[in-house]
Amino acid sequence: MQAYQFGLLRKLLVDAYDDTLYYKELFDGLGINPRDIRKIEDLRQLPILTKNDITQNLESMTSRKRNPKNSKTNSTSGSTGVALKFYSPTNVTMMRAIMMRCSQWMGVGLDDRTLQIWGHGFGEKEGFVKRLKLFLNNNKVISGYDLSDADMEEIIEVFRKRKPKLFITYPSILEHIGNYCIPRKIEIRVDVIRIGGEKLYPHQRELAMKVFGAPVFDFYGSRDITSIAMECKEHHGLHIMSENVIVEVQDDNGNFVTEGEGDLIVTHLHNWVTPFIRYRIGDRVRISQRKCSCGRKLPLIEEVLGRSFDMITFPNGNSVMGTFWTFLFKSKPGIDQFSVHLVAKDRLTIKYVARNMLSDAAKEYFVSEIKKKSGAGLKVDFVLVDSIPVTSAGKLKFVFDETRQP
Ligand SMILES: [Zn+2]
Repeated sequence: MQAYQFGLLRKLLVDAYDDTLYYKELFDGLGINPRDIRKIEDLRQLPILTKNDITQNLESMTSRKRNPKNSKTNSTSGSTGVALKFYSPTNVTMMRAIMMRCSQWMGVGLDDRTLQIWGHGFGEKEGFVKRLKLFLNNNKVISGYDLSDADMEEIIEVFRKRKPKLFITYPSILEHIGNYCIPRKIEIRVDVIRIGGEKLYPHQRELAMKVFGAPVFDFYGSRDITSIAMECKEHHGLHIMSENVIVEVQDDNGNFVTEGEGDLIVTHLHNWVTPFIRYRIGDRVRISQRKCSCGRKLPLIEEVLGRSFDMITFPNGNSVMGTFWTFLFKSKPGIDQFSVHLVAKDRLTIKYVARNMLSDAAKEYFVSEIKKKSGAGLKVDFVLVDSIPVTSAGKLKFVFDETRQP
């Protein structure tokens, strides 16, 4: 595996050097020729890449070989509240193979019936090709942005009619469905649940077992890096997808550690278009050298910390998941970072960081989009702030239901 990773890493660095101005200048400035690297650890000579570096240098960081056939424009939903634009390659066989293996770990076949409740781009409609692919793969997607009681009844109906084997969703949605079903004594049967996008809590696993009778597989990935790690049937730590990423963990003293907690630094071995080399993804993890009892030798992330979201319920009873907000505030320029606070049942405060105060027209647009989900009875205030603080224990949280606090 290390030899395989090294081969990919060397190619990634050489391509970045030859085909992008940013990395050419960076490597030359450090006196490094990527053709001279001898081992994976040589990566340490390079600086850490931040989201800000990418935003500021996207074009000079992107390969001259990029064209519409071999790559696509992509962006993160911005789980920290900041969305990131980048380019990614299309048709990487290894990345697809990894997703197939993930299904295999769960005991799910590629053409088994799947139901997804997931957030996609704001106001984005799935194109014909995407819908056709979903259909051919026996896959149905429901929006995570409409979860009122009436929607829940429809969703339960879809589960009953379709009888999916695999259910893919976010932990907060899983919990929302659980909390709807338990008092009503509704049971839904699926074989397995795969979750991602947010931190999974033990009580959510228990809820899934009660309502769905199914084990939950925690999947950790992101738009920018794709698959990073996933649980096996032991449900004790997540195996790193070493064919896709080189993972480093930097503790609070700046040291790189193989045991313990720290910031995740990840090198994506397959994105030659906008190379993510030693990228600070914005999540904290706990890593270890423990061997998994399943026998797989892929190393383990014990836990992904951070990234938790409150689901907000509006006065009209509709609920929306966390990425509703990220896609909304990304759909028009102006807001760099934000946090959303439901301060009373009918009152929402949006704190935002921006170069300029939002115009009335921009505010009106955001409010009208929110009201499509919340109904007219919600008051929305915008407050310009200098920064959005990271909550205690370095947790990345940006949607708060403050009406739930005592
Ligand atoms: Zn295992």
